Amino acid sequence: MSQFQSVKGTRDIFPEESVQWNHVESVVRTHAALYGFREIRIPVFEYTELFRRGIGSTTDIVGKEMFSFQPDPKGRSVTLRPEMTAGVMRAALQKNLFSSGMVHKLFYIGELFRKERPQAGRQRQFSQFGAELLGVSSPAAVAEVISLMMQVFSSLGLKGLRLRINTLGDGEERSRFREALQAWFVPFYDTLDEASKERLEKNPLRILDSKNPTIQELVAGAPRLYDYLKETSLQDFEKVLFYLGERDIAYDIDHRLVRGLDYYCHTAFEVTSSELGAQDAIGGGGRYDALARELGSSMDVPATGFAVGMERLLITMERQGLLAALPSDAPLVYVVVQQPDLVDNGMQLAWQLRQADISAEIDLAGKSMKAQMREANRVNASYALFLGATEYSTGCYSLKNLATSEQITLTLDAILQFLQERRAQKSLYS
Ligand code: AMP
Repeated sequence: MSQFQSVKGTRDIFPEESVQWNHVESVVRTHAALYGFREIRIPVFEYTELFRRGIGSTTDIVGKEMFSFQPDPKGRSVTLRPEMTAGVMRAALQKNLFSSGMVHKLFYIGELFRKERPQAGRQRQFSQFGAELLGVSSPAAVAEVISLMMQVFSSLGLKGLRLRINTLGDGEERSRFREALQAWFVPFYDTLDEASKERLEKNPLRILDSKNPTIQELVAGAPRLYDYLKETSLQDFEKVLFYLGERDIAYDIDHRLVRGLDYYCHTAFEVTSSELGAQDAIGGGGRYDALARELGSSMDVPATGFAVGMERLLITMERQGLLAALPSDAPLVYVVVQQPDLVDNGMQLAWQLRQADISAEIDLAGKSMKAQMREANRVNASYALFLGATEYSTGCYSLKNLATSEQITLTLDAILQFLQERRAQKSLYS
């Protein structure tokens, strides 16, 4: 064992798990394409100021969870991205994507970094996939984003997820509500926990999604943002719900859902899984019309997005038994060479199989035939292809199905054709 261990809050993903990650990512890519979302890849770090402005300095992320450093002694501070939205918006604005009033539909898959206390389902490096619909904000746009997310979940076979949804109104409505909320909590100041006391001053809406039971009891009697919304905001929300209904997407309205970040307005949503423990949120998102202005844009770029945590998604899939049935990346064939003087011919045979798009492995260490068979089983090959003196002289090869032990002997051409037919059922990447 090495004297080094992985950094606290990070983890390695070995090949058995990579197969699962690749499967989820390919489902994400397929569905993104169905909705017309195209992939964006942005840097892993950005200027710290971007996140301060974009996420909001009163949030936990900016307040205490960012990995920030200074690459040059006199340079500006940079931060490992703790979320994607601010970076995606920065990239889109930097490229002037909106000069012609265009709509852009982008999706991403990537790693994020937050200095949180590691626990089950909460890491310091984790991954998300998500989508951002930029340049238009309408109930239809919100419905598109939510549908894409929910369709990915259902294609993966996930069941029993709960979509909670709320409306946060516009800036003016929220600021009237904020004042009402502060006034309502003040008499209970001594009952509040430390986090809520801090939030009361800076970001009282966040008190609403506190997990502390005492606070939750208080919150039950607190004013509701819903009662501060104007007719237009209410209609906007109703229309989002209408679209979800039309698409058979089940939801629960939850007036306490505010989400952690400052930039949301109107619709906000979150998806939870009862299969997860305390960290039960798989993903969430909402509309964020004010972000572009906050980042210095001279024009409005209304937007909606979602982000889903890959690790928590995979944990949920595992608990629902959805990972066992995934196609594997095991080779279709293991070439078994029966005598040492045929090793070079074996190498050539393996090469021919690969040229025909058939995955093939062969022993590279001069092992005995018995050890080669053990290896074929260990790597979970479907077939063993034998190469011995008879095969070499007749040009007919024996192919053994390692699951059923059935054996056939055919010419190489016939074997290639036989294997190509099976490859389609077997290969993960075909
Ligand atoms: P957020 O950007 O905080 O809204 O998070 C969106 C999703 O990312 C969550 O629902 C989680 O699935 C996932 N997530 C957030 N923080 C972490 C973390 N520290 N470790 C693992 N997953 C996370």
